[in-house]
Amino acid sequence: MLTGIKITEAVDGLRQKKFSAEELTKAHVNAINTLNDRINAYITVTADAAIEQAKVADQKLAAGDAPALTGIPLAIKDLFCTKGVKTTAASRILENFVPPYESTVTANLLRDGAVFLGKVNLDEFAMGSGNLNSAFGAVENPWKRQGEDTFLVPGGSSGGSAAAVAAQMAMGATGTDTGGSIRQPAAYCGITGIKPTYGRCSRWGIIAYASSLDQAGPMGKSVEDCAIMLQSMAGFDPKDSTSVDKEVPDYRAACNRSLKGMKVGIPMEYRAPGLSPEIEAVWQQGINWLKEAGCEIVDVSLPHTKYGLATYYIIAPAEASSNLARYDGVRYGRRVDGASLDELYANTRGAGFGDEVKRRILMGTYVLSAGYYDAYYLRAQKVRKLINQDFMNVFDKVDVLLTPTAPTAAFAKGENLDDPVQMYLNDIFTVPASMAGVPGLAIPAGLSSQGLPLGLQLLGRPFGEETLFAVGSAMEKAANFTHKPTLCAGGSL
Ligand code: GLN
Repeated sequence: MLTGIKITEAVDGLRQKKFSAEELTKAHVNAINTLNDRINAYITVTADAAIEQAKVADQKLAAGDAPALTGIPLAIKDLFCTKGVKTTAASRILENFVPPYESTVTANLLRDGAVFLGKVNLDEFAMGSGNLNSAFGAVENPWKRQGEDTFLVPGGSSGGSAAAVAAQMAMGATGTDTGGSIRQPAAYCGITGIKPTYGRCSRWGIIAYASSLDQAGPMGKSVEDCAIMLQSMAGFDPKDSTSVDKEVPDYRAACNRSLKGMKVGIPMEYRAPGLSPEIEAVWQQGINWLKEAGCEIVDVSLPHTKYGLATYYIIAPAEASSNLARYDGVRYGRRVDGASLDELYANTRGAGFGDEVKRRILMGTYVLSAGYYDAYYLRAQKVRKLINQDFMNVFDKVDVLLTPTAPTAAFAKGENLDDPVQMYLNDIFTVPASMAGVPGLAIPAGLSSQGLPLGLQLLGRPFGEETLFAVGSAMEKAANFTHKPTLCAGGSL
């Protein structure tokens, strides 16, 4: 069984002919066949196409013409348009949408030889923190509390991506992060994920949630695996005017850099009320690891952090309400007819969108409406600038910030359901970096007393991904997180 290995090991193993790309892909297809009925990570499995791609990969490997990801089986969040393969955004409104084009990020991965196992589950249009808002059902976190079989959520919105990697149903996955959707599910599922700087990856062909915040990134089993994936995903794209024309550095090489003399900031505002003592302890542990690795620890302040969530839940819904206006039953996807055009819109959108999406559209149109624009949207934009300024100020003093990723470990399916605000609080540590556009890396750091993974987050300067990979690698070595979830394919070299 080959599902237990990392991408770094597979890259070598394929070249040393220890196994073929076809064997590697088939091992993952088997894992999907065994586990997906229960975990529900995949919405669409493309097993036959994957095996064909793997055969091509074997030919390339044999010919010695094999880019970095040749033969590596990945899961793709069902928010990335994939040519000829159904792309739903986990919404009824796009239930049967088959894009005629490939997103830039997935095209980059294919260019570099990756094999796509299928499209993975998410919160509808990436709105949520528990993958509970999917039209295709909830995803089960492969991790269990010790001695319990309670259904825990994998986090969200990239819950299918995180669960697929944690359960070894994919070697890595793409995610998107608007306010925490890569980092929080990574933390809940005990894997690694990075939200790059806004503009680092092209958004072209990714179904939009909040355009000024959305960013694609990799989710994987290690920091180095994420570095390899991001290397391929990142880069300037003339089709996305917000993608940045800046060379993509050698991320994998950055993973081994020394941390001597590096300054790590600890933002005091992240000692938020409600932070679990266990997470506080893991945070302290992370501080100690970085001290031992030669870093200097500096207390810093991000005074506007406390407004992060409130501002996010104005700006993100505002942009969402505008982006989702296109699903009108005329141009895309599902249509429910009506006696008039207005009725057609109302019927289509009423039937096509789930409750959370409707709530966001309502909030978004409210804060953008003539009477409230200045009081909410405009003010939120100003506060966003102040949040950004906080980060820029502290990055004059320190190279990177260390915080927890989420305020708790994974919660159970029934919890937080009746209270949307409680659900929004999950994003308290991830949202500020999204507002500022800076990169964030989440890595598993320890287990809770109930046996669930807890994550730490590193935040860096704009385009400081290399620093995150360097510090993250050192922390990963110190943490030596080798635990596996209860629901897992297993296997090793
Ligand atoms: N949980 C947040 C939300 O619901 C973040 C989602 C995301 O990053 N896509 O908006």
